[in-house]
Amino acid sequence: MDKKAIRECVENYVNGIWKEMWNISEYIFQNPEVGMKEYKAAAVQCEFLGKEGFCVERSAGNLDTAFIGNYQRGEGPCIALFSEYDCLPDGLEHACGHNLIAAATMGAAAAAKRTMEEMDIRGKLMIVGAPDEEFTGGKITLLKKGCLDQVDAAMAVHPTSAMSRVAGGNYAYLTYQCEYIGKSAHSGSRPWEGINAQDAALLFFSALGCARQMLRDGVRINAYVKDGMQHEGTISAYAKLGCDISAPDIFMLEEAAKRIEQCFKCGAVGTGCELRFERKESSKNRIPNGVIGEVFRENCLAWGEPMMEGMPDDTGGEDLGDVSHVIPAINPHLTVLPERKISLHTPEFREHVLTPAGEHMCLLGAETLAATAVELMTQPELLVKAKEELQERLKSLYGKEYFKYQ
Ligand SMILES: [Zn+2]
Ligand SMILES: [Zn+2]
Repeated sequence: MDKKAIRECVENYVNGIWKEMWNISEYIFQNPEVGMKEYKAAAVQCEFLGKEGFCVERSAGNLDTAFIGNYQRGEGPCIALFSEYDCLPDGLEHACGHNLIAAATMGAAAAAKRTMEEMDIRGKLMIVGAPDEEFTGGKITLLKKGCLDQVDAAMAVHPTSAMSRVAGGNYAYLTYQCEYIGKSAHSGSRPWEGINAQDAALLFFSALGCARQMLRDGVRINAYVKDGMQHEGTISAYAKLGCDISAPDIFMLEEAAKRIEQCFKCGAVGTGCELRFERKESSKNRIPNGVIGEVFRENCLAWGEPMMEGMPDDTGGEDLGDVSHVIPAINPHLTVLPERKISLHTPEFREHVLTPAGEHMCLLGAETLAATAVELMTQPELLVKAKEELQERLKSLYGKEYFKYQ
């Protein structure tokens, strides 16, 4: 199949719907909705996909704001493109730029479908609207519920700063919530009747400080007080903590998690508080895929985008990590600020989302996702190779143990 012809066809269609794409980006940016409440963002995308001739399943996987747009043309490989559209809480809104992801994915969906029609390319396109990337990880739920069972390869794009890149591996992530329940008492007149929950929290932080010495390189821990319930003259009967762990892989994550659980217990044993803790959100590290990554990279270069060499790792975490353990997947990072590196989830990053560089990222994301998806459909042998690469990477990262763990 002629790659150049695919690119020309894709570019032509993306240009034709650019205005509509950018309207979607602006609409989602101006109507920020946190995870699992992205009703407006899901509706505008479902409407777009329906208009483009996709068969749209709303509330996919029983998640209100998830959706899947299907388009099938004969028998052929199934390629999934993920849209994200949740915002951040606490006034940060679209400081992760998910409005750009949604718009780029919609553009890619329409352009890939029309290219398949025009060039008579067989295969299946699945446009997966995955809610709540930031917290519970909609892709993980959709994966567990079997919504992605037919998928041969999955892709998403994410805005970034500095040079664009096909991102390599990243970190596995787990967050805990811990509560200490003590007993209140008058701190002046009858303190011996109290059990101080804030002391339990203090002991937890001390134990965590000691535990850090024994953590493996790369493991990161962020612990914080969520609620202290302190009043003058009263021994505090309640403390709530949060603790996030990031680690280069799921085994290191579990190893660190065991130590953190010991630290939680330390607070309870040392004070006599009752302890309640639970694991909250978690995601696996991303397994890179060089076969698909190379097709994507070549498309980026063909569109004139300067790209970093290879597939550089990063230390973030995302719900695509779980998908990438089962399906060959990539999440290239395309820049909205080529000149320098700034942090996602900041007001500064949010300011760069609706700039001309943001428009460039959105346009490039749509073109490269569409061209890569169509190209993969025409070369099923690459998908066989991509699946072999995934198995090899899992084996070399985790050894045979991993397959038992599954
Ligand atoms: Zn984010
Ligand atoms: Zn994000």
